[in-house]
Amino acid sequence: MPEKKEKFYLTTPIYYTNGLPHIGHTYTTVVADVFRRYKRMRGYDVVMTTGTDEHGVNVERAAQKAGVPESEYVARMADAWRSLWDELGLTADEFVRTTDLQHVRTVQWLFKLCRENGFVYKGHYTGQYCIYDNAFVNDAKPGDNCPDCGRPTETLTEENYFFKLSAFQKPLLDFYKKNPDFIQPESRRNEIMSFVEGGLKDLSITRTTIRWGIPVPGEEPHVFYVWFDALTAYLSAVGGPDYEKRGMWPADLHLVGKDIIRFHTVYWPAFLMAAMLPLPKQVWAHGWFLMDATKMSKSKGNVVLPRPIVNMLGMDALRYFLLREVVFGQDGNFSYDALVTRYNSDLANGLGNLASRTAAMIEKNFAGKIPKPAEHKQQDAALAKEAQAAIGEVLERYEKMEFARALEAIWAVIASVDKYLTTEQPWALGDSEAEKQRKATVLWTSAEVLRIVTMLAHPVLPQSTDKVWALLGQTTSLGAFALDGLRWGQLAPGTSLGKSQSLFPRVDKVEAVERIESMANEELNPTQPAPAAATPAPATTPTAGAAAAAASVAAPERIGIEDFSKVEMRVGQIKTAERIVGADKLLKLTVDIGSEVRQICAGIAQFYEPESLIGRKVVVVTNLAPRKLRGVESNGMIVAASVGPDGRPVLAGFHEDVEVGARLK
Ligand SMILES: [Zn+2]
Repeated sequence: MPEKKEKFYLTTPIYYTNGLPHIGHTYTTVVADVFRRYKRMRGYDVVMTTGTDEHGVNVERAAQKAGVPESEYVARMADAWRSLWDELGLTADEFVRTTDLQHVRTVQWLFKLCRENGFVYKGHYTGQYCIYDNAFVNDAKPGDNCPDCGRPTETLTEENYFFKLSAFQKPLLDFYKKNPDFIQPESRRNEIMSFVEGGLKDLSITRTTIRWGIPVPGEEPHVFYVWFDALTAYLSAVGGPDYEKRGMWPADLHLVGKDIIRFHTVYWPAFLMAAMLPLPKQVWAHGWFLMDATKMSKSKGNVVLPRPIVNMLGMDALRYFLLREVVFGQDGNFSYDALVTRYNSDLANGLGNLASRTAAMIEKNFAGKIPKPAEHKQQDAALAKEAQAAIGEVLERYEKMEFARALEAIWAVIASVDKYLTTEQPWALGDSEAEKQRKATVLWTSAEVLRIVTMLAHPVLPQSTDKVWALLGQTTSLGAFALDGLRWGQLAPGTSLGKSQSLFPRVDKVEAVERIESMANEELNPTQPAPAAATPAPATTPTAGAAAAAASVAAPERIGIEDFSKVEMRVGQIKTAERIVGADKLLKLTVDIGSEVRQICAGIAQFYEPESLIGRKVVVVTNLAPRKLRGVESNGMIVAASVGPDGRPVLAGFHEDVEVGARLK
């Protein structure tokens, strides 16, 4: 009988659905994903929950603006969030929507328990209300204007249900003292302790002025207000009223941004205490990524989106940067410049280079099989000792969520093996028996270090370490490997290396930053979808995708010759063709159209080898306005037929030699 695994339940916040994820949401979700992978590799049965917070007046308004019912609006938003997480490889085990029936039941059940235990009463809430927006303005005083519409607010009183938060001052303080690790980091703990010591006011937990919310059973038109609804999602995701059956509650870790720590460490445990339910074990608040020292926001126009970065450098590069650049818990500065610099130095020149040069030398000298080490010298033993020590240190750092330190420790070993190779110079060793043995020892040692750092870096770099793992000829699943069994010396000689793959191609910094910014700009300000099959632009939002689909099924409208003559098409000859890093489908071409040579991007990379295109004559639409595809300027369009169900592009051409620049009519 296998031993029963210990459970570990962690959550990201349940994100509000009035917008789409930017780098801040991505950061929290990445951290959760890293920790989930790490805990799995330590042998835990892990469940990670994320989801969408779908109620409230802001959703009501957004749905109204979009001209759809709230239920349809939130379904769309939840889909958009879920599919972006999937695209980024951040798929949680549970995706909870606060409109799910299970969640509705859980909120109503929690309320019933709190009420039965005497912690809920009916009272009156008085606040500043905007009659145009139909909403209370939180924290506004009489005379203040509405921050949304600028109109004066009115003082309004409504009947609410209140939660007796004031009764929990002492129980909460006792709980914090008994569980010193509950609030992390330490600075936040002090902040919350003094907030609670200052006294707690009862909390209004229902509204009658909001329509789009979970109804309070038998008390309509009362609906639950924000936190009583949203926080409960952590419990409803793992069974709700039947949480004992699933065995995951209480949560071991709630990951949150520092702006919502109070709700998670004061309200949430108080609700659970009132209902006599088990309390979460830890709440970890991280800092913000700032752009030029200010908080990112869409209205300031300094928001960073994950997708353009991932298109250009890959998801692992973004994950590495987010965790390596700042101390977890503190604020950090986000800059594309620093991102690309780290990518080139740590990933391309660091891990990527170590993997490719080690594999290449084993390939060349030992026919692609891991050599058997001979006698160890002192320098080999020193490296072994360092790698073995790093295992313990890295695991300890991960456990404390000191991700930057964990990565530093891993990269220190990479630097040591680089130095070792430079000193030992295995490439300079000859073919005598003694030199061959030395070469075997040095290359086995390097490969063994590579194996260890690959395993240790896996939670942060899942995709690329899987590639290195396969390169080392390992056939087991890296993510299922138990880190506790990791020791120096486990790399078996004789193992055949796998196929070498490109890991982190070096990029030109200026060009990469320019392209990321340009792709972000395309995503934030979507223009018309691309008209032709030969140059598909990525669908940036569900709406743009839907519009493109609708356009393609519409019956073609007939046009007059004067419309056709507006399109200038000429014979062009391809001069150069190359692939574009970060854009699998695009080729960058230079095309001679007679009067000039143009740069044109074409979405044909999956069907045409760049070399095969040089010299080929093609049809070019020459008077198309220039635009950027994946951040690369494209000045014109190559005409191609779209063939078969996948729309395979086939370039239009000529059966006899035609003059470059000739116009098609
Ligand atoms: Zn207003």
